[in-house]
Amino acid sequence: MQKNTAVNYSDGRYKPVVEKCDGCERIVEEAAGKYCQSYLNPSAKWRLGICNFATHAKPEIAVAKIRVNPLKAAKRASKSKK
Ligand code: SF4
Repeated sequence: MQKNTAVNYSDGRYKPVVEKCDGCERIVEEAAGKYCQSYLNPSAKWRLGICNFATHAKPEIAVAKIRVNPLKAAKRASKSKK
């Protein structure tokens, strides 16, 4: 016997995707609207910032460059060899 594993997006548990989800690959289009494959309530995923499962948007990670003084670095390296 086969189990029916189809997801019924319009059973009321799933909330439609929000505007910010536009372009995400996890959107599933149903007759009743667009839903998210990963979350029941997409708007909650965007409330605190970028949805961490979004395939179309990535948070900008600020990489701080640390300046290293080459003379001090060489000195430190030679000290640790002793
Ligand atoms: S994974 Fe995030 S961005 Fe993509 S559809 Fe779902 S809630 Fe929207």
